[in-house]
Amino acid sequence: MSFIEQIKPDWSLFLDRDGVINVRPVNDYVKCWSDFEFLPGAIEAIASLSGYFHLVFVVTNQQGVGKGLMKPEALQEIHSNMMKHINEAGGRLTRIYSCTCLQNTFPDCRKPSPFMANQAKVEFPQINFRHSVMVGDTLTDMQFGKNSGMHTVLVSSDETNIEADLIVSDLMELAELISKQQKKSSK
Ligand SMILES: [Mg+2]
Repeated sequence: MSFIEQIKPDWSLFLDRDGVINVRPVNDYVKCWSDFEFLPGAIEAIASLSGYFHLVFVVTNQQGVGKGLMKPEALQEIHSNMMKHINEAGGRLTRIYSCTCLQNTFPDCRKPSPFMANQAKVEFPQINFRHSVMVGDTLTDMQFGKNSGMHTVLVSSDETNIEADLIVSDLMELAELISKQQKKSSK
């Protein structure tokens, strides 16, 4: 049985940001709000998914801050604008966790380390990782999900060797799959 069929309202959703919610800059960072571009359908998809998961988190590695390429305030501004657009569409993000550390620093809080998942669990003890879904566009995201015991969904429109419990072309496809399943089981 696919985990899609098991999703209940008390499940939690973890979303990667770049490449899932917004266009991932190639070899660069989203350094200010004007660099941020929502992927087509992402806002609507989050609005839909917010109805199926009681907790919706964003977990994002943002090393650009650690490298000094952007200020923490710029990251905050990007996230508050992102939240505003999602809220206006009827969506809801419970909390955004960003790791701004550099690679290879100690303690390692960047994905694939489950650090941000554990941080969420401290703040929201009702989270059950076996009843959680991690959505991302890279191997690192899938490892993060697996390291925390979550179900994993890879967003990829190309052929890929990355393993995941489910592969979708975008967030809207996931929202539609869940929506279809929820309608079926409510019959
Ligand atoms: Mg990504």
